[in-house]
Amino acid sequence: MKIYASPHAPAPVRDESIYTNLAVTRFNDFPAEQPAFIDAATGRVISREDWHHLTHQMAWGLRSGFARLGGVGSLERGDVAMIFSPNSLAWPIMLFGGFAAGLCMTLANSSYTPRELEHQWTDSGAKVVFVHPALLPVVLEMFKNLDFDLTAARRRIIIADWPARDPISNDYIRMQDLLYKGRFFMEEKFPGELANETALLCYSSGTTGKPKGVMTTHRNLTALLPMVDISYPNLHEPNPVMLGSLPFYHIYGVFKLLHFPFIRGIPVVIMQKFDITDACKWIEKYKVTQMLVVPPMCLLFTHHPAVDKYNISSLRLMLSGAAPLGAPLVMAMCTRFKNAGADFALIQGYGLTETSPTTHLLPAEDFVRKVGSVGPLLPNLEARLVVEDVQEAAAGEPGELWLRGPSIMKGYLNNPEATANSITPDGWFKTGDIAIVDEEGYYTIVDRRKELIKYKGFQVPPAELESVLLEHPEIVDVAVIGVVDEAEATELPKAYVVHKTGLQFHEEQAFGLAVQEWIKPRVARHKYLRGGVVTIEAIPKSAAGKILRRQLRERAKLEFASA
Ligand code: AMP
Repeated sequence: MKIYASPHAPAPVRDESIYTNLAVTRFNDFPAEQPAFIDAATGRVISREDWHHLTHQMAWGLRSGFARLGGVGSLERGDVAMIFSPNSLAWPIMLFGGFAAGLCMTLANSSYTPRELEHQWTDSGAKVVFVHPALLPVVLEMFKNLDFDLTAARRRIIIADWPARDPISNDYIRMQDLLYKGRFFMEEKFPGELANETALLCYSSGTTGKPKGVMTTHRNLTALLPMVDISYPNLHEPNPVMLGSLPFYHIYGVFKLLHFPFIRGIPVVIMQKFDITDACKWIEKYKVTQMLVVPPMCLLFTHHPAVDKYNISSLRLMLSGAAPLGAPLVMAMCTRFKNAGADFALIQGYGLTETSPTTHLLPAEDFVRKVGSVGPLLPNLEARLVVEDVQEAAAGEPGELWLRGPSIMKGYLNNPEATANSITPDGWFKTGDIAIVDEEGYYTIVDRRKELIKYKGFQVPPAELESVLLEHPEIVDVAVIGVVDEAEATELPKAYVVHKTGLQFHEEQAFGLAVQEWIKPRVARHKYLRGGVVTIEAIPKSAAGKILRRQLRERAKLEFASA
């Protein structure tokens, strides 16, 4: 068995909760009065000290105030709380307050429809939901579908309207009401083996099937931070500032909340959602020096007029992840940013929700020399490249990337079968991605073995779209694949459907467009069938009934070429 080791010396792993790690063990690494989070739109600041107080108050409120305010019983250590909100200044208080209270936090995509939310609510066993006022109708619809009357629903809802007060929230328990000033709360401890309890439940489809709860433990998170810290570039900037434009409900966004204010002492400017013009405006206003991005965001930076309208010369570093970042895009960015200073670098990282997330990071000094690569393995991790689940790939040849180390998830919630299919008894996690490693130990992700489609960094599980499409009265069979859209630097979900009675050639296009519209109210925006809908006679399947997706991908390439 060929095991690749990390080139880095091991990073220390502490067995304690992520909250203890940041709020106690590492808290004094930076001054307490230093800004931790800044709301981009209002300029309101939460200092590290404010964060400390607010999260303790929140923890106390969750554990003791919630029931008194009419919430559904008391919240206990290990209970699950959901956050359903776009980015906001409330996020670091809800998330870390929940951790301090010993709750397990499940984070839902803020563009979910009621049915998507219901899957996560039910599957995670959540007891309460923090909801942004604008998303309240989605939550109420979900509770209605679950046969909760309004009174029962209200007892499980916390309106995440901090610091503003939304008029809607008068009938509900508000986050603000849970902030019990002046109360001392000792955070729940997770020493030793207790660090293996689940802290976070983000949802991922993994290699196959519908979204599953990824059990990220306290140890996973506390281990990850020093692992990344060793490899994350030191730019020696006098006033570093990070732009928080990626959604916090994705593990990549969670990492941003954990890492920058606490491990690096870098304040995060929080944008509710990414918009290129706003991003440039905030870069100029707050003199932002760093950003975490996904490739389609880079693409916007290469050609959008806002880039010339605002002074974004403070930007020194972008870290791209969640999807492949190709050499042409890196080069186009270099050209565009040549005025941004000699130190500008666009590096690539790799990881999965299941790996908490980062496992590879390209050093800033290599971003041109090793363009396209995701860099070497982070410390504490080992890798294998495996062919067909059994045999090691020959040197320099591609294989499925298997990883082992302290940041690999505990497993999928309530799903021992999916867990056993993705983690071997000796701890190797199968990423479903195909990689090669060069003689210097730098990895490049060259393909994906799993079904998953990624639209602008968001997961689109084909199985989920397929089951929705099968509810269409005229569709009897279906397969969904991803097609690459170079112009948008992303993949697009494309469906092949079998019509109940068959269609005439001239009817097919109209039917495809109708199906694209039909699915819109049923799924989140990133799952729209932007790659099109094609009617075919039969879905190609193996003798065992498995969809032959590769065959459909080849067909899609031919359709693209002849279009
Ligand atoms: P998620 O769990 O949503 O973060 O998705 C993880 C998946 O995103 C991985 O298994 C890869 O397929 C893909 N991914 C993440 N980073 C990269 C990257 N730098 N290059 C290629 N694919 C990536």
